[in-house]
Amino acid sequence: MATIIFPGSFDPLTLGHTDIINRALGIFDKVVVAVLENAGKANLFSLQEREALIREEFAHAGQRIEVDSFSGLLVEFAQRKKTRLILRGLRAISDFDYEAQMALMNKSLSNEVETLFLMTQETYSYVSSSLVRQVASFGGDVGPLVPKGVNNALKKKFSKKG
Ligand code: ADP
Repeated sequence: MATIIFPGSFDPLTLGHTDIINRALGIFDKVVVAVLENAGKANLFSLQEREALIREEFAHAGQRIEVDSFSGLLVEFAQRKKTRLILRGLRAISDFDYEAQMALMNKSLSNEVETLFLMTQETYSYVSSSLVRQVASFGGDVGPLVPKGVNNALKKKFSKKG
C-alpha cells in the first residue's frame, strides 16, 4: 500500500492544497496530511483548528486520508508513518529554490526518503494561505479560493477580532 505524506502549515487550507490532495488520492492509496506545529510562529488558526478544517473537508475520503500534526524532523515523522514518500506542491519558479533545499536536506538526513512534486493547477497558481489571510483580514471575499468550511471559519475569526 502506497502512503504519501503532504506536510505544510495549512494556515488555512486553500483550494490549492485540496487540489493537490485530491490529485494525490488519485495516485496513492493513502495521503497523510501532516500539519506543522510551528511552535513560536504566530498562526491565525491553532493547530487543532487547522486539523479540524482539513478533516471536515476530507471526511468523505474515510481511511484514505489521515490528518496528523508534527514538529521536528519530517523524515522521522515519515519513518513513524512507515513511508518514504513526501509530497509537495509547486506553484511558481519562486517555490523551487526553497523546495529544492528542503528536498535535498531531507535526502541527506535520510537517503530512503523521496520528495515528489505536483504542479499547481493554473487556476490556483496564485493562491497561498498568506494571501488568503491578508485579504480575509481586510474583509475581502476569499470564497473562491478556500473550501466552504474555511471561508466560514475565516469570517468568524475576523468578525470576532473586528
Ligand atoms: P509551508 O509553510 O510548508 O510551505 P503551506 O501550507 O504554505 O506550508 O503549503 C503546503 C504545501 O502546499 C507546499 O508544498 C506548497 O507548495 C503547497 N501549496 C500551497 N499552495 C498551493 C497552490 N495554490 N497550488 C499548489 N500547491 C500549493
